[in-house]
Amino acid sequence: MHRATKIVATIGPASSTPDILLKMIRAGLDVVRLNFSHGTADDHRQRAEMVRECARQAGREVAIMADLQGPKIRVGKFENGKTTLEPGHPFILDAECELGNDERVGLDYKDLPRDLKPGDVLLLNDGLIVLDVSRVIGSEIHTVVRVGGDLSNNKGINRQGGGLTAPALTAKDMEDIRTALSLGVDFVAVSFPKNATDMEMARQLANIAGAPYGIKPKMIAKIERAEAIPALQEILDSSDGIMVARGDLAVEVGNAAVPALQKRMIRMARDSNKLVITATQMMESMIHAPVPTRAEVSDVANAVLDGTDAVMLSAESAAGKYPVETIEAMAAICLEAEKSEHSELDKDFLDRTFTRIDQSIAMGALFTAYHLGAKAIVALTDSGSTALWMSRHWTHVPIFALTPRVGSERAMSLYRNVTPLHLDTSSDRDTALQQAIEVVVSKGYAARGDMVVLTVGEPMGQPGGTNTLKIVRVGDVL
Ligand code: PGA
Ligand code: MN
Repeated sequence: MHRATKIVATIGPASSTPDILLKMIRAGLDVVRLNFSHGTADDHRQRAEMVRECARQAGREVAIMADLQGPKIRVGKFENGKTTLEPGHPFILDAECELGNDERVGLDYKDLPRDLKPGDVLLLNDGLIVLDVSRVIGSEIHTVVRVGGDLSNNKGINRQGGGLTAPALTAKDMEDIRTALSLGVDFVAVSFPKNATDMEMARQLANIAGAPYGIKPKMIAKIERAEAIPALQEILDSSDGIMVARGDLAVEVGNAAVPALQKRMIRMARDSNKLVITATQMMESMIHAPVPTRAEVSDVANAVLDGTDAVMLSAESAAGKYPVETIEAMAAICLEAEKSEHSELDKDFLDRTFTRIDQSIAMGALFTAYHLGAKAIVALTDSGSTALWMSRHWTHVPIFALTPRVGSERAMSLYRNVTPLHLDTSSDRDTALQQAIEVVVSKGYAARGDMVVLTVGEPMGQPGGTNTLKIVRVGDVL
């Protein structure tokens, strides 16, 4: 069965043996996320090597995404590892406090007191704890506990409504970018960007770090601050894709605002020819249980119906009991949701003009395949841009993108409805097209007599050179 929606899974202690990872890949894992908020450079190196080895065994490419920690603001550590906050009681966040107790705790971001004023609301530990700021005195933020609970070492802090000014890339992020590129990652996800400048800076650092390895990674902006919402278009324009990072976003804008924002972000990303990943708590109960809840099934299915490129797993696959079963369940939900999905391609093309030849061919191929009822689109592509354009519109015709470049092959693992495949294109055009069809047939994606739509650039091997559309029946001589 051809699944269009891709699966991104974070790997961690629960999924870092070759045996489990291979099972996850066979179950449908497309992109591995390395979470740089946890683990050492050595952990990431070992995991990246394991991913490449398991993908080789599975006989297909799997992409790797490095997710930077970013300027997540956190409380410091406690003498006893934690404290319990009681509603109505005072509690102090103190930039100068070394080790916390029942009265106060330190901060990793020393400038936080400057960003706050009386009346501000702070949300700790993913919003489970709520503090009202009453006064700010020097390094001390005095608060009154509104919603209490246990607060342990290094829990995150958000301000309701956003507006904390910590810089987007920390010294640790810059170091992690260098580590990530030395591991040959395909995607870099930037945490808490607030505008295009943050993304441009991250891209520049990533390109410099990737230069010795010949890698320009695709940049993903995690939309998780309130300020990123009004800046969404400029962030999209400066990124290759976005992540609907529902965890931190929900804390800043309120849970109830997130579903509508998710729909808007997915629509805007696709309209801007960009990628989009929907993340956080999609299969949360499967951290402990072998089956998802009805609500989780609906959540994943709805993200598919919204048009996301990929759905993402965090703790479910990094630290949960059922990493393989979670991917199997997620893949099954995606497949079923896609079946029911209605496509209305013509509407997408109203009032559109194309400025580029390759883009026009991509759209022409998509339109033709859709109306002809072709079995497949087979695109010979170098950079993958032809496949990206075609994948921004939904039809039930699967897109097979064949490239000689392993980097393009891996990156396209994230593109909705695109199956990336390897093809050496050193021969002449007709031989390459014939070989492309043979690859697709040998994998069982098409059979003799099926109608397929082909795209190719002439002369071949030039990025952005797609200029030819050809319709053939499998088995006919080209
Ligand atoms: P995180 O990002 O898992 O790195 O916090 C995703 C989110 O906030 O949803
Ligand atoms: Mn986050």
